[in-house]
Amino acid sequence: MAKKLEQFTGSGTFPKGIHPPERKHFSADAPIEVVPTPKEVLLPLQQNIGAPSKPLVKPKQEVEYGDLIADNEEAPISAKIHSPIFGVVQKMAVTTLPNGRHMQAIRIKAAGRQFTDEENYRELMGGKWPKSVVGYDPDEVTRAIHDAGIVGLGGAAFPTHVKIAPISLRVDTLLVNGCECEPYLTADDRVMRDIPDTIISGALLSRFAMGLKDIIVGIEENKPRAIEAIRKSAAGTDIKIAVLKTKYPQGSEKHLIKAVLNRVVPLGGLPADAGVAVSNVTTISAVARAVFRGMPLTHRVVCVTGGGVVQPKNLLVPIGISYRELIEFCGGFTKDAARILSGGPMMGFSFSDLDMPLTKGTGGVTVLTHDDIKKQKETACIRCGRCVDVCPMNLVPARLGLASRHGDLAMAEKYRIRGCVECGCCAYACPANIPLVQLIRMGKAQIAAKR
Ligand code: SF4
Ligand code: SF4
Repeated sequence: MAKKLEQFTGSGTFPKGIHPPERKHFSADAPIEVVPTPKEVLLPLQQNIGAPSKPLVKPKQEVEYGDLIADNEEAPISAKIHSPIFGVVQKMAVTTLPNGRHMQAIRIKAAGRQFTDEENYRELMGGKWPKSVVGYDPDEVTRAIHDAGIVGLGGAAFPTHVKIAPISLRVDTLLVNGCECEPYLTADDRVMRDIPDTIISGALLSRFAMGLKDIIVGIEENKPRAIEAIRKSAAGTDIKIAVLKTKYPQGSEKHLIKAVLNRVVPLGGLPADAGVAVSNVTTISAVARAVFRGMPLTHRVVCVTGGGVVQPKNLLVPIGISYRELIEFCGGFTKDAARILSGGPMMGFSFSDLDMPLTKGTGGVTVLTHDDIKKQKETACIRCGRCVDVCPMNLVPARLGLASRHGDLAMAEKYRIRGCVECGCCAYACPANIPLVQLIRMGKAQIAAKR
């Protein structure tokens, strides 16, 4: 039986899951660097779960850094969008994102003086970050988060002000997610190591806005320097640190809650049903920026990594920059680069158009080599049950894959396809190379289209 986690009710891990090669060495030791202002940015009107925003600017209009350019006040779940540069708005564009979605986007060409890299670093990451909420009121903090257009930066992109506002009375704990369990990616690790004070400040503000009792930062044990930095920054506060076993997908909200607090989120439920609010370290860092410095979410930290990129790095980038510019800033592709992913190899999306823009929810770009992706032929299911053994949601992935492949949506629902968190453990473990996650995603999309 797993040992209890010191100070907490959880065991520090969760049942099932996998241990893929971590491959964090490519970029883990590269401190966050600022990418210079690009010639233009392309800002899709929907970068969040919920409704898209509507443009508030017209072609030829001049905008300043931080200006509000799109919003949707009527929609209960939406997020504001701001300009990350000084520039001039161009004709409305249509773009495609790595997940295949097409949408309208605002193009802004840089014009006039831009902030230097030093100015950007100072404003967004440098200086002192208060560890006190004295002088603020909870509504003011929530409003600042709303006005800043903050969404979950761990990938979910759910608007943060919505997460904070209707918090249930049964919720007592803010769990700050510093696991970053996806192989290769190191952006969260670097945010914890390079600017830990922004996380501690943001966590104190978020707890205050939500009226919660406890704050726990959960970090996997494979990030000792991040643990040390957060511990040091949290000294003198009542924030606790939970050091968790390294296992994939430890960063999934449900598995994090189980590992730290031994609470279970019911299938189809939310963390609030288990008395917890979960927020990623990078999101929490953006909260501090929004409240203490009045800065909207115009930039984020992104990890560009893998054996297919010449110089893997962790970068502070303007949202809307193209993937091409990020790769160029990292020295370009190596000779054996074979596949580019938005995100990491477990949950990321493969794409080929480098002119696509990076959105708020993208924390990583992974370039795999031919060796990494040696394609193995799909064969018939041998009913070995390995996919079931590793599924952290206790599903039967083989059944879900089969039902989705044959369009048997009733069967897919019966086997609880909506409980799948798309972690990819099943496909990783499958000896028959069956693309289980793609099949499950396809089944989910078909079900959604029927509603
Ligand atoms: S079925 Fe879904 S939750 Fe289960 S292992 Fe596969 S991708 Fe993960
Ligand atoms: S792991 Fe692959 S081969 Fe084994 S039961 Fe699951 S789908 Fe079939």
